[in-house]
Amino acid sequence: MSNITATAVSGLPRVYELSRAELGRWCEEHGIPGYRADQIRRWIFGKRSNSFPEMHDLPAALRGLLAESFSLFPGKLVDHRVASDRTEKLLLELTDGELVECVLMREPERRTVCISTQVGCGMGCVFCASGLQGLKRNLTTGEILEQVLRLDRLLPREEAITNVVVMGIGEPLANLKALLPALESLNDKGGLGLGARRITISTVGLPEKIRELARLGKAYNLAVSLHAPNNTLRTQLVPVNDKIGVDAVLQAADDFFEVTGRRVTYEYVLLSGVNDGPQQARELAKLLQSRIAHVNLIPMNAVTELSYVEPTAPRTQEFVRVLEQFGIPATVRKRKGADIDAACGQLRLHQLQTAAVTSPELVVLTPP
Ligand code: SF4
Repeated sequence: MSNITATAVSGLPRVYELSRAELGRWCEEHGIPGYRADQIRRWIFGKRSNSFPEMHDLPAALRGLLAESFSLFPGKLVDHRVASDRTEKLLLELTDGELVECVLMREPERRTVCISTQVGCGMGCVFCASGLQGLKRNLTTGEILEQVLRLDRLLPREEAITNVVVMGIGEPLANLKALLPALESLNDKGGLGLGARRITISTVGLPEKIRELARLGKAYNLAVSLHAPNNTLRTQLVPVNDKIGVDAVLQAADDFFEVTGRRVTYEYVLLSGVNDGPQQARELAKLLQSRIAHVNLIPMNAVTELSYVEPTAPRTQEFVRVLEQFGIPATVRKRKGADIDAACGQLRLHQLQTAAVTSPELVVLTPP
């Protein structure tokens, strides 16, 4: 289990909900020199401090004031699972009782965290556990950062987070207001100091929000979850497509590339017998042929409540071969943490189902 002891559920804001500038202003308003804000943030982001009292180079009065005014990790750790490949997943209960998931994945050269941006999701992708109960609410900046900071504290001192993927529960671009300040803190030298190129934001494809992201002038990576090469199939798998359409999504992704110069990744979950045939691979290849794009194929991570299954390895390889024939680079995402319900939303869903047995206000799920 994590060594963070949850400070009892409280209404105090997380201290890192405030940006560097805001914390500096807070210090000044309380007659404290602005440079103390850097020290506080160094304790949180650099020294992985878990409590205000241990920030020993701050005056005792300031430490006391911080403890009266802010919280550090008010979320409650409900579940912490470690997979055989050392992927770790946390299920956190927020101060209002809502649940959120985040994951730490280990590869030889990388320590990647995958974080959530919403409680539930309103996009309703039919293969995803996160969307099964709809959207509850957006996460705050502090709630987004708490996930990263908790996962960071699972690493030994000599290791650091190398990549952040915003691909957990929720549609990140539907909560840009809270997400962008969180990413600023991750990117900031006085924060986690993570290069923008190491941060990837995944979206189902909200055209205006993609353009808004492009206009920021940051080198964040964009991953567009396409999952189907035509409107009929995409609307069936990603219902929100009905209002948007594949062309508009691709047009916005093209604009993102034009403004930022960053190659767009297209995510494509492979669902056996649904969208994984050579015909769909050809259709996808034709769509992307004229674009600087990369395709990330994700074999379906089975979710008990859903009827979709992973394609066979030869069928997946055939899909890759067709894309490569058309000159489209493609990779098949490695399964991480398969033995700990690491697919997006699974742990939260299973927790809600367990709670539903005793908690009448929760809807009991009926598997399709
Ligand atoms: S795949 Fe992503 S966008 Fe779709 S329902 Fe799940 S969390 Fe939401």
